Amino acid sequence: MNSNNSDAMATLLEHQQMAHTQNMTVSAAQRRERIQQIINLVVDHHQILVEAIEEDFGGRSQGFSIMNDVLGSLASLKYTRDNLEPWLESQTREVFSPYDQLGSTARVEYQPKGSIGIIGTWNAPLYTLLAPLACALGAGNRAILKPSEVTPKTAELLHTLFEQHIDPLLVSVVTGGAEVGATFSALPFDHLVFTGSTTVGKQIMSAAAQNLVPVTLELGGKSPVVVSNDCDLVETCKRLAIAKSNNGGQVCVSPDIVYFPKNKLQQAATLLLENFRQFFPEVSNNADIVPIVNRQHCQRVVSLVEQARQAGCEVLSSHEVASLSALIDADKRLPLQLIVSPSKAERIMQEEIFGPALILLPYDDIDDVISDINSRAKPLALYYFGEDESELNHVLANTSSGGVSVNDCLLHAAIHDAPFGGVGASGMGHYHGREGFLAFSHQRTVFVAPEHDPRQEWGLLPPHHDQFTAM
Ligand code: NAD
Repeated sequence: MNSNNSDAMATLLEHQQMAHTQNMTVSAAQRRERIQQIINLVVDHHQILVEAIEEDFGGRSQGFSIMNDVLGSLASLKYTRDNLEPWLESQTREVFSPYDQLGSTARVEYQPKGSIGIIGTWNAPLYTLLAPLACALGAGNRAILKPSEVTPKTAELLHTLFEQHIDPLLVSVVTGGAEVGATFSALPFDHLVFTGSTTVGKQIMSAAAQNLVPVTLELGGKSPVVVSNDCDLVETCKRLAIAKSNNGGQVCVSPDIVYFPKNKLQQAATLLLENFRQFFPEVSNNADIVPIVNRQHCQRVVSLVEQARQAGCEVLSSHEVASLSALIDADKRLPLQLIVSPSKAERIMQEEIFGPALILLPYDDIDDVISDINSRAKPLALYYFGEDESELNHVLANTSSGGVSVNDCLLHAAIHDAPFGGVGASGMGHYHGREGFLAFSHQRTVFVAPEHDPRQEWGLLPPHHDQFTAM
């Protein structure tokens, strides 16, 4: 469809909603078959999809895209396909006395909501569309996807593939930028899922509110890492270097600020840089380093680091480069940058970095770390490295975050059997697994009255004005 045409988008949604109304009951077998269609599309076309992503990023390796986007999406789709059957079963609930004594029943049924709008982002251009889609289809819905314009080849390819292989009344793809996104989010969907920045998330919620469309917002933030005094520093720094290099740091749950015990910070910095160099001996033209997606985003990451440097912060680099700025015009692959103790006023302390840079902050007292974390917006992820169970529990009990990984980073986000989502500024609602199914289902209570109406005997018929006066 002409993606900029708002009338066409509205008509498509109307048709999907009409198709839903005419076929509201979607059996488990139908849901599995619908999910299988998407699995087949991804499997059959994974090669051209990873080629499109490679082109969009100016060199993201196909191997990385297979691991991250193709296998990640397939895992979500397959998990829902293989587990949805028991989720569909209605649940019997207790009926409030006295009706329970008279043969009444109550149950909760899980109904598809209708048509779900899904807005994705570029850093995982398949996964941020197809993982929510898995849950939406598992819940018996239809969907319209809006990929990010920052990865235009992938967006266009998805549009073509869905048009060729999937009934548009089941799943359609519309393409375009912020303007199309704004029109899209103002449509009267039955639920809207948005993955992207906190700033745009607010606009999405405001647009959806005009139609009272419920939203799931998968946003970002500055995910902190708490490194305990008793951690294995060598292993911790290796795992941090792996996590920070993932997708060139362009991951919503990427570690952003790391709190090290003061006496360990120097050694930690050396280990982080060494590990990064070991994984990536060269930066330029190294196919294993994911480039920053485009010039503008690369410029943004570089300027965050350079502003901190100009403000007098110590900035350490894994590789010697003449200037970071020169890499923007080269292949947009950046070395790991460590920014030591920037002041709170620095831009790098305010904005999500979304690139291969880490802020290192020293601490003496774990409670100061907790206060500092709590002084910022609630993050999407929180990480703890160490074996001190009571300190870990203290950190968990006194902080809030979308999710947590202990002694590693990112991995809680890959569990299909557990809810994934943010809290506060990092988002609202969840997807993955049963929680995703519930998010896109209407939970409908059905009460069935007994044959015998007890209200007469219980004195519950009008007039009521002189009842219960003794209470
Ligand atoms: P973005 O908010 O700029 O764009 C995201 C999507 O919104 C794109 O499809 C874009 O076209 C659309 N859009 C832009 N302006 C819009 C508007 N006014 N109305 C409606 N739609 C609009 O974000 P981005 O730069 O593409 O993505 C990076 C952000 O996404 C980071 O903050 C990152 O942490 C976050 N993210 C979150 C998750 C998660 O699962 N929580 C996953 C990946 C990325």
